[in-house]
Amino acid sequence: MSRYYGLSDYLKLRYGRKLVKLSIDGGFTCPNRDGTLSSKGCVFCSLEGSGDFAGEISCGVKKENQDIQTQIDSQKALLSAKWTNVGFIAYFQSYTNTYKPIQELEAIYKSALACEGIEGLAIATRPDCIDASHIELFKTIDVLWVELGLQSIHDEKNEWLNRHYTLEDVEKSTIMLQKAGIPVVLHLIAGLPGETFEDFMASMDFITRIKPFGVKIHMLHIVKNTALSQRYQETPFELLDEATYIRWVCEGIGRLDPEIVIHRMTGDGKRAEVIAPTWTFNKRHVLNGIQKYLAEKDIVQGCYIKN
Ligand code: SF4
Repeated sequence: MSRYYGLSDYLKLRYGRKLVKLSIDGGFTCPNRDGTLSSKGCVFCSLEGSGDFAGEISCGVKKENQDIQTQIDSQKALLSAKWTNVGFIAYFQSYTNTYKPIQELEAIYKSALACEGIEGLAIATRPDCIDASHIELFKTIDVLWVELGLQSIHDEKNEWLNRHYTLEDVEKSTIMLQKAGIPVVLHLIAGLPGETFEDFMASMDFITRIKPFGVKIHMLHIVKNTALSQRYQETPFELLDEATYIRWVCEGIGRLDPEIVIHRMTGDGKRAEVIAPTWTFNKRHVLNGIQKYLAEKDIVQGCYIKN
Protein backbone atom coordinates (compact mmCIF):
# COMPACT_ATOMS: atom_id res chain seq x y z
CA MET A 1 0.00 0.00 0.00
CA SER A 2 1.23 3.46 -0.83
CA ARG A 3 1.23 5.77 2.16
CA TYR A 4 1.13 8.92 0.06
CA TYR A 5 -0.21 10.13 -3.28
CA GLY A 6 2.84 10.41 -5.51
CA LEU A 7 3.11 12.02 -8.94
CA SER A 8 3.80 8.77 -10.79
CA ASP A 9 0.60 7.26 -9.33
CA TYR A 10 -1.37 10.28 -10.46
CA LEU A 11 0.10 10.30 -13.97
CA LYS A 12 -0.41 6.58 -14.50
CA LEU A 13 -4.00 6.88 -13.34
CA ARG A 14 -4.72 9.85 -15.57
CA TYR A 15 -2.71 9.00 -18.68
CA GLY A 16 -2.34 5.23 -18.40
CA ARG A 17 1.41 5.47 -18.90
CA LYS A 18 4.49 7.15 -17.58
CA LEU A 19 5.01 10.81 -18.44
CA VAL A 20 8.52 12.21 -18.33
CA LYS A 21 9.30 15.88 -17.81
CA LEU A 22 11.61 17.54 -20.32
CA SER A 23 13.20 20.65 -18.91
CA ILE A 24 12.84 23.57 -21.30
CA ASP A 25 14.65 26.87 -21.27
CA GLY A 26 12.29 29.31 -22.97
CA GLY A 27 14.76 32.20 -22.91
CA PHE A 28 13.15 33.98 -19.97
CA THR A 29 14.56 36.23 -17.29
CA CYS A 30 13.00 37.28 -13.97
CA PRO A 31 11.93 40.62 -12.44
CA ASN A 32 13.96 39.64 -9.40
CA ARG A 33 17.04 39.35 -11.63
CA ASP A 34 16.68 42.03 -14.28
CA GLY A 35 16.52 44.96 -11.87
CA THR A 36 12.74 45.44 -11.92
CA LEU A 37 12.43 44.21 -8.33
CA SER A 38 16.06 43.38 -7.64
CA SER A 39 19.11 42.36 -9.56
CA LYS A 40 20.25 39.83 -6.98
CA GLY A 41 17.55 37.17 -7.35
CA CYS A 42 16.36 34.79 -4.66
CA VAL A 43 19.35 33.75 -2.56
CA PHE A 44 19.15 30.15 -3.75
CA CYS A 45 18.72 30.99 -7.42
CA SER A 46 21.51 29.59 -9.55
CA LEU A 47 22.97 31.23 -12.61
CA GLU A 48 20.58 29.10 -14.63
CA GLY A 49 17.61 30.72 -12.88
CA SER A 50 16.65 27.70 -10.86
CA GLY A 51 12.99 28.42 -10.38
CA ASP A 52 12.79 24.81 -9.36
CA PHE A 53 15.29 25.50 -6.60
CA ALA A 54 17.35 22.36 -6.74
CA GLY A 55 17.57 21.55 -10.39
CA GLU A 56 15.60 18.87 -12.12
CA ILE A 57 16.02 16.60 -15.07
CA SER A 58 18.23 18.28 -17.60
CA CYS A 59 19.77 15.21 -19.17
CA GLY A 60 23.06 17.03 -19.39
CA VAL A 61 21.82 18.91 -22.43
CA LYS A 62 23.13 22.40 -22.82
CA LYS A 63 20.05 24.34 -23.71
CA GLU A 64 21.30 27.86 -24.23
CA ASN A 65 20.43 29.28 -27.62
CA GLN A 66 18.66 26.11 -28.67
CA ASP A 67 15.16 26.41 -30.02
CA ILE A 68 12.44 24.54 -28.20
CA GLN A 69 12.06 21.78 -30.77
CA THR A 70 15.82 21.07 -30.56
CA GLN A 71 15.75 21.00 -26.76
CA ILE A 72 12.85 18.58 -26.78
CA ASP A 73 14.28 16.33 -29.50
CA SER A 74 17.70 16.06 -27.88
CA GLN A 75 16.26 15.17 -24.48
CA LYS A 76 13.86 12.64 -25.99
CA ALA A 77 16.77 11.03 -27.86
CA LEU A 78 18.73 10.68 -24.63
CA LEU A 79 15.76 9.19 -22.81
CA SER A 80 14.68 6.80 -25.57
CA ALA A 81 17.25 4.20 -24.50
CA LYS A 82 15.82 4.20 -21.00
CA TRP A 83 12.08 4.30 -21.65
CA THR A 84 9.68 3.25 -24.38
CA ASN A 85 5.97 4.01 -24.52
CA VAL A 86 6.22 7.15 -22.44
CA GLY A 87 4.66 10.54 -22.99
CA PHE A 88 6.34 13.85 -22.25
CA ILE A 89 5.64 17.05 -20.38
CA ALA A 90 7.41 20.19 -21.55
CA TYR A 91 8.54 21.71 -18.28
CA PHE A 92 9.30 25.42 -18.50
CA GLN A 93 11.60 25.54 -15.53
CA SER A 94 14.34 28.16 -15.81
CA TYR A 95 13.62 31.69 -14.56
CA THR A 96 10.09 33.14 -14.66
CA ASN A 97 8.22 31.44 -17.44
CA THR A 98 5.37 33.93 -17.80
CA TYR A 99 7.62 36.99 -17.92
CA LYS A 100 7.17 38.04 -21.56
CA PRO A 101 4.34 39.67 -23.52
CA ILE A 102 1.34 37.40 -23.98
CA GLN A 103 1.74 37.00 -27.75
CA GLU A 104 5.34 35.84 -27.29
CA LEU A 105 4.31 33.46 -24.54
CA GLU A 106 1.64 31.96 -26.72
CA ALA A 107 4.14 31.31 -29.52
CA ILE A 108 6.68 29.77 -27.10
CA TYR A 109 4.17 27.48 -25.42
CA LYS A 110 2.61 26.43 -28.72
CA SER A 111 6.00 25.57 -30.19
CA ALA A 112 6.49 23.09 -27.34
CA LEU A 113 2.98 21.69 -27.65
CA ALA A 114 3.50 21.13 -31.37
CA CYS A 115 6.34 18.67 -30.71
CA GLU A 116 5.52 14.98 -31.04
CA GLY A 117 4.69 13.17 -27.81
CA ILE A 118 4.17 16.30 -25.69
CA GLU A 119 1.03 15.79 -23.60
CA GLY A 120 1.07 19.25 -22.06
CA LEU A 121 3.04 21.93 -20.27
CA ALA A 122 4.23 22.49 -16.72
CA ILE A 123 5.04 26.16 -16.18
CA ALA A 124 7.13 27.45 -13.27
CA THR A 125 6.68 31.11 -12.46
CA ARG A 126 6.28 33.76 -9.76
CA PRO A 127 2.84 34.54 -8.31
CA ASP A 128 3.33 38.25 -9.05
CA CYS A 129 3.85 37.43 -12.74
CA ILE A 130 0.41 35.99 -13.40
CA ASP A 131 -2.67 38.02 -14.24
CA ALA A 132 -5.99 37.56 -16.01
CA SER A 133 -4.34 37.59 -19.45
CA HIS A 134 -2.16 34.60 -18.51
CA ILE A 135 -5.17 32.76 -17.17
CA GLU A 136 -7.03 33.35 -20.45
CA LEU A 137 -4.06 31.99 -22.40
CA PHE A 138 -3.66 28.96 -20.12
CA LYS A 139 -7.32 28.11 -20.64
CA THR A 140 -6.78 27.78 -24.40
CA ILE A 141 -3.74 25.47 -24.32
CA ASP A 142 -2.75 22.25 -22.57
CA VAL A 143 -1.31 23.50 -19.30
CA LEU A 144 -1.13 20.52 -16.96
CA TRP A 145 -0.10 22.65 -14.02
CA VAL A 146 1.58 25.90 -12.95
CA GLU A 147 4.33 25.81 -10.31
CA LEU A 148 4.72 28.61 -7.77
CA GLY A 149 7.39 29.01 -5.08
CA LEU A 150 5.74 29.15 -1.68
CA GLN A 151 8.96 28.09 0.13
CA SER A 152 7.58 29.06 3.55
CA ILE A 153 4.44 30.73 4.90
CA HIS A 154 6.62 32.92 7.12
CA ASP A 155 7.26 36.20 5.33
CA GLU A 156 10.38 37.00 7.37
CA LYS A 157 11.92 33.81 5.96
CA ASN A 158 10.95 34.88 2.46
CA GLU A 159 12.48 38.30 3.00
CA TRP A 160 15.68 36.54 3.98
CA LEU A 161 15.41 34.63 0.72
CA ASN A 162 15.12 37.97 -1.17
CA ARG A 163 12.08 36.60 -2.92
CA HIS A 164 10.20 39.90 -3.33
CA TYR A 165 6.68 38.60 -3.02
CA THR A 166 4.52 37.74 -0.05
CA LEU A 167 2.40 34.88 1.20
CA GLU A 168 -0.63 36.93 0.19
CA ASP A 169 0.68 37.02 -3.41
CA VAL A 170 1.01 33.22 -3.41
CA GLU A 171 -2.45 32.74 -1.98
CA LYS A 172 -4.08 35.18 -4.42
CA SER A 173 -2.47 33.64 -7.51
CA THR A 174 -3.19 30.12 -6.36
CA ILE A 175 -6.88 30.91 -5.85
CA MET A 176 -7.08 32.76 -9.17
CA LEU A 177 -5.59 29.76 -11.02
CA GLN A 178 -7.73 27.27 -9.10
CA LYS A 179 -10.90 29.22 -9.94
CA ALA A 180 -9.96 28.99 -13.61
CA GLY A 181 -9.49 25.22 -13.26
CA ILE A 182 -5.70 25.39 -13.68
CA PRO A 183 -3.86 23.05 -11.31
CA VAL A 184 -1.20 24.61 -9.08
CA VAL A 185 1.90 23.00 -7.59
CA LEU A 186 3.50 24.79 -4.64
CA HIS A 187 7.19 24.45 -3.76
CA LEU A 188 8.18 24.25 -0.13
CA ILE A 189 11.68 24.40 1.36
CA ALA A 190 12.51 22.58 4.60
CA GLY A 191 15.30 23.78 6.84
CA LEU A 192 15.51 27.52 6.26
CA PRO A 193 17.83 29.09 8.85
CA GLY A 194 16.04 29.36 12.19
CA GLU A 195 13.03 27.40 10.96
CA THR A 196 11.53 25.09 13.57
CA PHE A 197 9.55 21.88 13.19
CA GLU A 198 6.43 23.86 14.14
CA ASP A 199 7.17 26.49 11.47
CA PHE A 200 7.43 23.79 8.82
CA MET A 201 4.25 22.08 10.01
CA ALA A 202 2.44 25.43 9.81
CA SER A 203 3.49 25.67 6.15
CA MET A 204 2.17 22.15 5.54
CA ASP A 205 -1.11 23.08 7.25
CA PHE A 206 -1.40 26.12 4.98
CA ILE A 207 -0.96 23.87 1.94
CA THR A 208 -3.70 21.56 3.18
CA ARG A 209 -5.98 24.54 3.73
CA ILE A 210 -5.40 26.10 0.31
CA LYS A 211 -5.38 22.63 -1.29
CA PRO A 212 -3.34 22.99 -4.48
CA PHE A 213 -3.16 20.14 -6.97
CA GLY A 214 0.37 19.31 -5.87
CA VAL A 215 3.35 20.05 -3.68
CA LYS A 216 7.12 19.76 -4.14
CA ILE A 217 9.17 19.52 -0.97
CA HIS A 218 12.86 20.36 -1.02
CA MET A 219 15.65 20.36 1.51
CA LEU A 220 17.48 23.69 1.59
CA HIS A 221 20.51 23.16 -0.63
CA ILE A 222 23.53 25.39 -0.71
CA VAL A 223 24.38 25.63 -4.40
CA LYS A 224 27.67 27.07 -5.65
CA ASN A 225 27.67 30.56 -7.17
CA THR A 226 24.52 31.69 -5.40
CA ALA A 227 24.01 34.44 -2.83
CA LEU A 228 23.12 31.65 -0.44
CA SER A 229 26.50 29.98 -0.83
CA GLN A 230 28.22 33.30 -0.17
CA ARG A 231 26.20 33.82 3.02
CA TYR A 232 26.82 30.24 4.12
CA GLN A 233 30.55 30.53 3.61
CA GLU A 234 30.74 33.87 5.40
CA THR A 235 28.47 32.86 8.30
CA PRO A 236 27.76 29.13 8.31
CA PHE A 237 24.35 28.16 9.65
CA GLU A 238 22.98 24.84 10.69
CA LEU A 239 21.37 22.62 8.06
CA LEU A 240 18.99 19.77 8.78
CA ASP A 241 20.55 16.34 9.03
CA GLU A 242 18.97 13.51 7.07
CA ALA A 243 17.06 11.95 9.98
CA THR A 244 15.52 15.30 10.93
CA TYR A 245 14.55 16.06 7.33
CA ILE A 246 12.89 12.64 7.04
CA ARG A 247 10.97 13.22 10.28
CA TRP A 248 9.77 16.66 9.15
CA VAL A 249 8.63 15.39 5.76
CA CYS A 250 6.83 12.35 7.17
CA GLU A 251 5.07 14.27 9.91
CA GLY A 252 4.13 16.85 7.27
CA ILE A 253 2.68 14.10 5.04
CA GLY A 254 0.43 13.12 7.93
CA ARG A 255 -1.00 16.65 7.86
CA LEU A 256 -1.30 16.92 4.08
CA ASP A 257 -4.71 16.55 2.44
CA PRO A 258 -4.73 13.06 0.84
CA GLU A 259 -5.88 14.46 -2.52
CA ILE A 260 -2.79 16.65 -2.92
CA VAL A 261 -0.27 15.01 -5.26
CA ILE A 262 3.27 14.91 -3.88
CA HIS A 263 5.50 15.72 -6.84
CA ARG A 264 8.72 15.54 -4.89
CA MET A 265 9.88 14.69 -1.40
CA THR A 266 13.59 15.30 -1.76
CA GLY A 267 15.71 17.36 -4.12
CA ASP A 268 18.64 15.91 -5.98
CA GLY A 269 20.76 18.86 -6.95
CA LYS A 270 23.76 18.28 -9.19
CA ARG A 271 26.67 16.88 -7.18
CA ALA A 272 29.18 19.20 -8.76
CA GLU A 273 27.14 22.23 -7.77
CA VAL A 274 25.77 21.49 -4.30
CA ILE A 275 28.03 22.45 -1.41
CA ALA A 276 25.80 21.13 1.37
CA PRO A 277 24.12 19.06 2.66
CA THR A 278 25.81 16.17 0.88
CA TRP A 279 23.47 13.51 2.31
CA THR A 280 20.89 14.65 -0.27
CA PHE A 281 23.05 13.14 -3.03
CA ASN A 282 21.80 9.69 -2.06
CA LYS A 283 18.22 10.26 -3.06
CA ARG A 284 17.33 6.57 -2.84
CA HIS A 285 18.54 6.49 0.78
CA VAL A 286 16.38 9.50 1.69
CA LEU A 287 13.31 8.03 -0.01
CA ASN A 288 13.84 4.66 1.69
CA GLY A 289 14.18 6.50 5.00
CA ILE A 290 10.87 8.25 4.37
CA GLN A 291 9.13 4.94 3.57
CA LYS A 292 10.60 3.35 6.70
CA TYR A 293 9.55 6.21 8.97
CA LEU A 294 6.01 6.27 7.52
CA ALA A 295 5.68 2.51 8.06
CA GLU A 296 7.14 2.53 11.58
CA LYS A 297 4.88 5.38 12.70
CA ASP A 298 1.94 4.11 10.66
CA ILE A 299 1.55 7.47 8.93
CA VAL A 300 -0.54 7.78 5.78
CA GLN A 301 -1.09 11.05 3.96
CA GLY A 302 -3.63 13.14 5.85
CA CYS A 303 -3.96 10.78 8.82
CA TYR A 304 -3.48 13.61 11.31
CA ILE A 305 -6.21 15.81 9.81
CA LYS A 306 -9.18 16.13 12.13
CA ASN A 307 -12.63 16.23 10.52
S1 SF4 B 1 11.85 33.99 -8.76
FE1 SF4 B 1 12.82 32.13 -9.60
S2 SF4 B 1 14.07 32.83 -11.35
FE2 SF4 B 1 13.51 34.66 -10.14
S3 SF4 B 1 15.27 34.97 -8.78
FE3 SF4 B 1 13.76 33.71 -7.64
S4 SF4 B 1 14.32 31.54 -8.07
FE4 SF4 B 1 15.41 32.85 -9.58
